Amino acid sequence: MSYVDEILERVVSKNPSETEFHQAVKEVLDSLRCVIDANEEKYKKDAVLERLTEPERVVSFRVPWIDDKGQVQVNRGFRVQFNSAIGPYKGGLRLHPSVNQGIIKFLGFEQIFKNSLTGLPIGGGKGGSDFDPKGKSDREVMAFCQSFMTELHKYIGADTDVPAGDIGVGAREIGFLYGQYKRITGLYEGVLTGKGLTYGGSLARTQATGYGLIYILSEMLSHNGKELSGKTVVISGSGNVAIYATEKAQQLGAKVVALSDSNGYIYDKDGIDLDIVKEIKEVKRARIKEYVEKKPNAVYTEGKGIWSIPCDVALPCATQNELHLEDAKTLFNNGCFAVAEGANMPSTREATDFFLENGMLFMPGKAANAGGVATSALEMSQNSQRLSWTFEEVDAKLKDIMVGIFAKVDDASSRYNMKGNYVAGANIAGFEKVIEAMTAQGIV
Ligand code: NDP
Repeated sequence: MSYVDEILERVVSKNPSETEFHQAVKEVLDSLRCVIDANEEKYKKDAVLERLTEPERVVSFRVPWIDDKGQVQVNRGFRVQFNSAIGPYKGGLRLHPSVNQGIIKFLGFEQIFKNSLTGLPIGGGKGGSDFDPKGKSDREVMAFCQSFMTELHKYIGADTDVPAGDIGVGAREIGFLYGQYKRITGLYEGVLTGKGLTYGGSLARTQATGYGLIYILSEMLSHNGKELSGKTVVISGSGNVAIYATEKAQQLGAKVVALSDSNGYIYDKDGIDLDIVKEIKEVKRARIKEYVEKKPNAVYTEGKGIWSIPCDVALPCATQNELHLEDAKTLFNNGCFAVAEGANMPSTREATDFFLENGMLFMPGKAANAGGVATSALEMSQNSQRLSWTFEEVDAKLKDIMVGIFAKVDDASSRYNMKGNYVAGANIAGFEKVIEAMTAQGIV
């Protein structure tokens, strides 16, 4: 049995029921086979893959809080500190009822390679809770966040572990978390990113993941003799990533015709009016179906099915495993030629393989959505220097980083004779730097 297969078996047997984690490790290690096979003896002796797939630390804790009826509620909190070879742990916090240890570990594992690709000194981590912010009052969200941070603060710090937002964690939650960290520790430091602009946040962080996605998409298209302008785009989700991907795609002349949430999707053949979406999602925190009340020509459909809308470019920006093999086939048959992942692992393995086998341009999440964490690292730099850069400065750096990521991914895929396979390219480029740093630091 090859070293890779040995490790895949080990990961499944040591982490039973963590299916998303198995999926992420398999996808990464499968595409690294050529690199690992070439160094098998050395990697095996140093147990490189055993160390890479075992988090440095997993913290799981109780989060008690009191709801508006006076009832005590208890959630489970997590922080996975996966790999600090190239910098302090960095990765978001997710608040969603589906959160469990396997999901946080898959996200933390992916984060190692994503952070490496940015070229910035940040290691991989992730955290969150099965708390559902939907339908909760501001006071309930604050009570949860304060309780969550009361435990989490023991494990994080500006030079050790710097969490950020993810699903269910936006400006409101980061504010409550930051206030509690400061209150407990007395430190005014850059321990979280995605902060508000009045207390250490970075301009362009809100836009960064969505804008970065469109920057790397444009780079991939132009590298392959195509352009975004004039193309029809379908984007799933209507949260932070989806909204700002829509904004930048529209600025670059594309027509975005669909968005979704967990209840259903809207189709607006005239192009999405983003002001309406921002009002619904960012101000009212309401459902996407309200869009058709303002735009009667648009159509709302309950349930899944957004990938059946014909488009040139598809950008899954909601959640993991939201795009299946059948969706991939439908997209292809409808003429879609490019897919870039704003979300983490939104395409199933079968869908990813279909994209690659059918010559579609496909940029995986760990490269395509790295603009968020890259700009978080820029926020950390500004906090350390006690400086605030302008929107244009941050946006220009973000763009450079995304263009740089595309170059690394493209180069790695070419070096291993897999030109155009950006899944392999992203995994190889991310892996090379982390392994070099781990090796240099000895057996730790
Ligand atoms: P938000 O919470 O702002 O938005 C998430 C969107 O996806 C919402 O429209 C939500 O709908 C939908 N969604 C969430 N879970 C599900 C589900 N199980 N089924 C269907 N739809 C769902 O999160 P973000 O935009 O920040 O994150 C979206 C994705 O991007 C995630 O995979 C995240 O890990 C990834 N990402 C985010 C980064 C960031 O900077 N924010 C950085 C890098 C990656 P509803 O409101 O109905 O729940």
